[in-house]
Amino acid sequence: MNKKIILCLSVGAALFLGFAGFNVYLTETRPDPAIAPVGTQVMPMGEFMEGVRRSDFTDGRIGYLPGSQGLAEVRATRGGLPHLQENGSLALSTVKSTGRLTEADVQALREKRFLEGDLNFVRGGTAPKAFRDYALPVVDAITQILGLALLFTVVGLILHRLLGRNNAFAAKVFTPVNSTVKFSAVAGCNEAKEEVTEIVEFLKSPERFRATGARMPKGVLLVGPPGTGKTMLAKAVAGEANAKFYSLSGSDFVELYVGVGASRVRALFKEARRHAPSIIFIDEIDAVGRQRSTGAAGNQEHEQTLNALLVEMDGFASDEAVVVFAATNRADVIDKALQRPGRFDRQVFVGLPDLKGREDILRVHAHAVKLDESVDLNDVAKATSGFSGADLANLVNEGALHAARRNATTVLRQDLEEARDKISWGRENGSMLTAEDRKIVSHHEAGHALMQVLSGDGSVKLHKVTIIPRGQSLGSTHFSPERDVCNFSKSQILARIWCLMGGRVAEEIALGSITNGASADIQQASSLARQMVFEWGMSSFGFLALSKPDASEALASAQTIYEAEQHVKTLLAEQYRHTTEQLQRYRSALDAIAEALMEKETISGDDVQEIVSRTSILEEIAA
Ligand code: ADP
Repeated sequence: MNKKIILCLSVGAALFLGFAGFNVYLTETRPDPAIAPVGTQVMPMGEFMEGVRRSDFTDGRIGYLPGSQGLAEVRATRGGLPHLQENGSLALSTVKSTGRLTEADVQALREKRFLEGDLNFVRGGTAPKAFRDYALPVVDAITQILGLALLFTVVGLILHRLLGRNNAFAAKVFTPVNSTVKFSAVAGCNEAKEEVTEIVEFLKSPERFRATGARMPKGVLLVGPPGTGKTMLAKAVAGEANAKFYSLSGSDFVELYVGVGASRVRALFKEARRHAPSIIFIDEIDAVGRQRSTGAAGNQEHEQTLNALLVEMDGFASDEAVVVFAATNRADVIDKALQRPGRFDRQVFVGLPDLKGREDILRVHAHAVKLDESVDLNDVAKATSGFSGADLANLVNEGALHAARRNATTVLRQDLEEARDKISWGRENGSMLTAEDRKIVSHHEAGHALMQVLSGDGSVKLHKVTIIPRGQSLGSTHFSPERDVCNFSKSQILARIWCLMGGRVAEEIALGSITNGASADIQQASSLARQMVFEWGMSSFGFLALSKPDASEALASAQTIYEAEQHVKTLLAEQYRHTTEQLQRYRSALDAIAEALMEKETISGDDVQEIVSRTSILEEIAA
């Protein structure tokens, strides 16, 4: 509910209540016509005054006869409640007397608050009312209205703020979109596309499937890391099939108030069925579809929502042209009940794109920008291993922005390179290194680079080495795999470890002191060595699994684990020794690379190769 509606409602309610109050006020102050003064009793002045002094009379008036000293007519209402007359109406009895009033009488009457006026006034005219008498009710009413309006507005706004968009009273409106995404825009996930093509056919002509009695999947679970195009894929299915696309996130269903999430689910399905063919896309389904816990009270809402989802999915016939797509990057936490037949019984894996996939995705996005002809997207794809589709889209855009900043009209390779470095390492942070730091960083990076060349691992190409600080790092050595590697051999893993150790070892050899710059290298090398021993059976410890792949659970006794850890240490120590020997042996190459870095800040992999050949170690390696 938006603020304006709340405001209008409050003002409306306040006006209504205010006027109602005013009316009550008016009716109360107006004399009730049903109560008529009847049966005026005339009594001698003496008796009247006695009644006054005894307070028999509730209110009265004195009317002075014109021109006559002390002579007056007095009239009063006899105290007590109005009584019922024979004709059925209520009556107040009045008392009247005419005579001369003494000073004491007048005094007594004034004490009893008798009103004074001329004769006319006493005999039934009305007292001239002061302005106050008219103004008061109006002023009262206005203050009442304003006060109430203020109160309601404040309460309304507080409620609005508190409930936010989770307002329990606001029915969420689901508006479908007409998706214009086509399969051709989703690149690099051909298998996933193939798996959902059938659904497009079904949505286009459900009767064909009905005729054969085939059961179509009601739900498709798209599993994969963020940014790999899951949303896009669901949209493309809708786009290809001309189906309505309802998109929402699992967290939209998780409400503060028990039952709201569930009612939203019902409302959504009702809408989608009415507008079939349609696709419901639930992003982050894990927010609702997590395995049901063991009765923690806080999860009641969760369970109700999940149950509603299951009921709805069971509830629609499989020939209804509604298909639910759900995305998650954690299939393992999804409640098993969601994956039973007739629910999300089809799982489609959308993984990170491979080399070819990356190139295809880059090509799709490159359409939107003006790429220079010299740019080879295959090269860019090689340098972006591990990037998701979203990262690649971002890369192209960042590249175009960089080109624009250069005032160029086309995007060059260097723009894309800058974009890539920015995405993976952070911005160039422009911090100035001291001469001493430059020396250290140059040698550190030279160590990495040289070890890469010396390792002779042809599957990874040295891309470039730089000492320009970026993000958290002072320098970096970039590699690009020549192809997607699915299997790593033991020698490749060892080569990686040598390369990681190269930085620290170079500092030690060339400068005689070490810095904390190797911290990330140490982490990575240790983790690789540990996996070699614990998971991959690649050490003298043998063919024995010691922990589950994610190191979540030890599979061996504490004693065995201890022994294994000794093996990890030995393995690392051996590699460190090897790296030290190598760098000592090719010290001249190490120094030459470091010199080049200090001079040029960034050198390419080819430059490094060239330096290495110049220092004629290659022959030595070959020998
Ligand atoms: P997910 O749902 O898996 O997190 P999205 O589908 O939201 O990822 O992708 C975000 C953006 O990344 C898309 O809008 C698109 O620009 C780009 N993208 C991701 N994957 C691909 C792909 N396979 N092909 C083309 N573009 C992609």
